[in-house]
Amino acid sequence: MKELNDAVIIGGGIAGLQCANILARRGRKVVVVERADTIGGHVAQWHTCYPFGLTGKELVDKLTTHLELAEIITNAEVDNIERERDKYAVTVNGKRHDTRTVLIATGYNLFDAHIKEELGYGVYPRVITSVELENAWNNNTMPFDTSDTDAPRFAIVHCVGSRDLKCNVTHCSKVCCMAGIKAAKELKQHYPTCQVTNYYMDLRMFDTSYEELYHNAQTEFNVQFVRGRISEISLGNKGRLKLKSEDTLLGIPIVDRVHGVVLMIGMQPPATIKVDNEDLAKNQNGFLLQSDPINANLTEHPGIFIAGACKGPKTITETLADAKAVALAIDEYVTK
Ligand SMILES: Cc1cc2nc3c(=O)[nH]c(=O)nc-3n(C[C@H](O)[C@H](O)[C@H](O)COP(=O)(O)OP(=O)(O)OC[C@H]3O[C@@H](n4cnc5c(N)ncnc54)[C@H](O)[C@@H]3O)c2cc1C
Ligand code: SF4
Repeated sequence: MKELNDAVIIGGGIAGLQCANILARRGRKVVVVERADTIGGHVAQWHTCYPFGLTGKELVDKLTTHLELAEIITNAEVDNIERERDKYAVTVNGKRHDTRTVLIATGYNLFDAHIKEELGYGVYPRVITSVELENAWNNNTMPFDTSDTDAPRFAIVHCVGSRDLKCNVTHCSKVCCMAGIKAAKELKQHYPTCQVTNYYMDLRMFDTSYEELYHNAQTEFNVQFVRGRISEISLGNKGRLKLKSEDTLLGIPIVDRVHGVVLMIGMQPPATIKVDNEDLAKNQNGFLLQSDPINANLTEHPGIFIAGACKGPKTITETLADAKAVALAIDEYVTK
């Protein structure tokens, strides 16, 4: 007889790992299927995770304490999920895994900054994304060459690929205001004589610790905040970048000249997952839809659960809490 798993978890980011770790600790038989060659998802790339003060790698390590009890399959794609009475057959790289439940924890994709042509990403090497900034810190490299100045100026552009009708994206990516301020502070720490300006549409500081970060960035690090959307980035004098925008509080056009720009790219829905050859239901922004207003991890398919940023942009704290909730829901489901 084929072995029956309690859960197959698709996605080895922090949502999938948190759930797998809890279920494995409770003696449940779990398989984690991860598309990439390592686990940890996006968080594994972040140099500093706010508000934890841990590197992404340290945070991921904390979620793997019981994972030797689970089967982890990396470099793996799910070919098919099919319902067979009260269980599912999940085919991964051609091999079938039978399971009582499936958790979809496929997270998010990053917005491709090339789409916003007016911001010059891919044209000017001094325009980089928030992810490239994290990678630079991870590799102990400086993201911008400032050898030609004693007083470098940097700009951080919020809402790139979020809240933008021109890109057909209406949702807010939720974490990038906080991550933009985190980036500003890090630039000030690495380039002590620099001036950093954050260009924002609205600041979404919904957590008390985010408000503190915002306050501290202004008082301790002298980060400037301008409410305005950048309309164009072009090449200015002496290799600097020229940013055009309007200060929407003062109603005046502004031009800034800087040595480097960081684009805070947004979170996009993950690729579609099919169950019985049909796409799982999505919300108006393309993220996976919870089928029940109270039980946040249910789908219209009994035994198929969703958790983490595949349901919409989430912070690490929110993702971990959601993954804990889904572990409980799965544990109850398989106990029935
Ligand atoms: C620049 C930036 C900085 C950030 N910094 C912070 C911060 O400091 N603090 C904070 O709270 N939040 C931060 N965040 C948000 C944080 O990244 C998310 O909260 C977190 O990644 C959500 O985890 P997840 O597991 O749901 O998704 P993900 O991290 O996206 O993980 C999903 C996993 O699923 C895998 N996967 C996808 N599809 C498949 C498939 N079909 N088959 C198999 N595997 C699949 C992916 O490869 C990935 O490993 C930041 C976000 C950005 C963009
Ligand atoms: S969190 Fe801030 S930067 Fe990110 S999309 Fe929302 S408003 Fe824009």
